[in-house]
Amino acid sequence: MELSDSSLLDLIRFLESPELDCERVFDVLDQYAEIEIRTEDAARLLPFVHRHLETCSKCCDEYEALLDVLIKIQESEGNKNDRL
Ligand SMILES: [Zn+2]
Repeated sequence: MELSDSSLLDLIRFLESPELDCERVFDVLDQYAEIEIRTEDAARLLPFVHRHLETCSKCCDEYEALLDVLIKIQESEGNKNDRL
């Protein structure tokens, strides 16, 4: 996938924006939860999401629900295949 200059700028603006709205956080929430489960480093990799979750209970609830689902999926996959 090629990034045009304008979409790159959008991304930079997105990452630097001190206040993200919930819609933008929702867009990356599943990725954030997955990073958290795989590496437990999501807060460092995506600090802007972490910051939003600390201040927004709505997104935090959503995130915890998502995390719960992902953990259950991971557990059931782990039971099916011990090598994972
Ligand atoms: Zn929010």
